[in-house]
Amino acid sequence: MVENLLEIKDLYVEYKTDKGFTGEKQIIHAVNGVNLDIKKGEILAIAGESGCGKSTLARAVIRLETSKSGEIIFEGKNVFEMNKTELKDYRKKAQMVFQNPYASLNPKMKIIDILKEPLKINTKLSDIEIYEVIKEKFEKVGLDIESLNLYPHEFSGGQRQRIAIARALVLNPEFILADEPVSALDVSIQAQIINLLRELKNDYKLTFLLITHDMSVIKYLADRVAIMYLGEIAEIGSTSQIFINPKHPYTKALLSAVPQISGEQQERIRLEGELPSAANLPKGCKFHTRCPNCMDICTQCAPSEIETGEGHKVKCFLYMKLNK
Ligand code: SF4
Repeated sequence: MVENLLEIKDLYVEYKTDKGFTGEKQIIHAVNGVNLDIKKGEILAIAGESGCGKSTLARAVIRLETSKSGEIIFEGKNVFEMNKTELKDYRKKAQMVFQNPYASLNPKMKIIDILKEPLKINTKLSDIEIYEVIKEKFEKVGLDIESLNLYPHEFSGGQRQRIAIARALVLNPEFILADEPVSALDVSIQAQIINLLRELKNDYKLTFLLITHDMSVIKYLADRVAIMYLGEIAEIGSTSQIFINPKHPYTKALLSAVPQISGEQQERIRLEGELPSAANLPKGCKFHTRCPNCMDICTQCAPSEIETGEGHKVKCFLYMKLNK
């Protein structure tokens, strides 16, 4: 059995908004009782609409957000209880690649200095050793070391994302959290970056948490998929379980919007209404306000998680009834 690298246990994250028109601060319930295991060497994708809580979850994993309650366990330690030294070590092992490579690279620094920075802060390597690491990683992501003395604006969007990936790699991490890593790029460049991530996963034996709203990216890259809705995991399974035999009505709606390579487009399931506000969560099943299969019970009670196949779990009363 493959070991877990990271375990998320009953995690709740909430934060307060600034005062709005009402003059009142609101509490946003961004992550609501998430349980997830990320296995060593896998790519686990978290999918869902914008505002579903997936980026907040990612930020909590890297401890850029604090939790209201729950645990995130990495190599046996709760990241929320790590001391300074343990946290420094965790941040070496767990790196993040952001959506917008231009915003995540300091425009006033040369690329060589951007890549040197984490090595200077976190290691005792000599200047020659640092250069060797940078050279290896820069070439690994497909860039020419002749360009190390350039500034971020002198690169294309795809090249900048390669630089951001090289920066994430210089400390030899075990775990990469990639938040919408290709969504800011041209479609023609997206495939190159997806291929690169896959190659890096195999060559460096990396584990990935991939955050994306793009089901096509997930289909190509992920080993398992968790579908998130209003801060909860609605369904989780292997990529083939989710794409071939989706259970949750929300998953089915997300997949119906994915273009098919065969050209045989399935009928699009259009969801009524907007995603409800995370400041005012619906009672019962959180999806009931938009669900085409909603029953009376769904408006009153929250379904618990049920396993419908090996590792394939769904929160929906439709399957609880079938399994009675
Ligand atoms: Fe739809 Fe009810 Fe299932 Fe929720 S529990 S997804 S409302 S059928």
